[in-house]
Amino acid sequence: MKLVFATFNRGKAVEAGEILGPGYELLLPPDLGITDEVEETGSTLQENSLLKARSVWTALSLTDGGVLQTRGQDLFSGQAKRDPESQYAWRWLGVFADDTGLEVDALGGAPGVHTARYAGPACNFDDNIAKLLRELEAVGAIEPSQRTARFRCVVTLIVDGEPHFFPGEMPGRIALQRSGARGFGYDPVFIPDACPDRTLAEMDLSAKDAISHRGAALRAMAAWLKEV
Ligand code: IMP
Repeated sequence: MKLVFATFNRGKAVEAGEILGPGYELLLPPDLGITDEVEETGSTLQENSLLKARSVWTALSLTDGGVLQTRGQDLFSGQAKRDPESQYAWRWLGVFADDTGLEVDALGGAPGVHTARYAGPACNFDDNIAKLLRELEAVGAIEPSQRTARFRCVVTLIVDGEPHFFPGEMPGRIALQRSGARGFGYDPVFIPDACPDRTLAEMDLSAKDAISHRGAALRAMAAWLKEV
C-alpha cells in the first residue's frame, strides 16, 4: 500500500518505513509536488497532527484530475487503477501525519505543544535542550524523581477523507546533562523508563523504535490498516 507521510523530514520517513515494515511504500509531499508546510496553529497535538494531514490531503484532492491523475501513472500500475477492488485503487491513497510533544511534570507539562520551538521561533535542537535544562534547574528539580517526563505523539491517518487518530506515549525522565550522539531533538537528555541506564541518543534506532511514542502510534495505525 502506498501512503503519503505529511512530513518534510526524510529522517522521519526512514524511521516510519522501518516501523511499518514491508508492504508500505511511503511518499513525501515533495514527491507529489507539494512544497508548502502548513503552520501548526492548533492548541493540541491532535489538532496539529490533523492540520498537517488535512493540508496534504486537501492539496492532493485539489489537484485530483490534474496533478494526482497525471502523476497517478507513476504511483499505480494501469491495471490497479482500472480495478476499483484493487488495494492500489485511488481510495487507498492514505495520508498520515504525526505531531509530538514532550511533557515535563516539574514544568507543568511544558514544553508540550510548543516542543519544536521551545527556545523561540528560530531555535535549534541544542537551544531547546539548553532551555529545558535551565528551566528544570530553576525550579530546583535536580533529583531524578523530580524530572519525570513523557513524549506523547498523535498520528492522524486520513483515508477516504475521514481522519483516524492513533496516540502513542513513551514515559521517562530528563537527564541532568546531554549524553549520546544518535537520534535528534531531545534524545540526548531523554532517559526512557524502558531502558533506564541510557538516553535515547545512546540507543540504536531499532531499539528506540521498539519503545518510542511514534513507534507505538505507527504500529497502532498499521494494525488498523490491516483490519480495513
Ligand atoms: P514533531 O511534531 O514530530 O515535529 O516533533 C516536535 C518536536 O518534538 C521536534 O522538533 C523534536 O524536538 C521533538 N521530538 C519529536 N520526536 C522526538 C524524538 O523521538 N526524540 C527527541 N525529540 C523528539
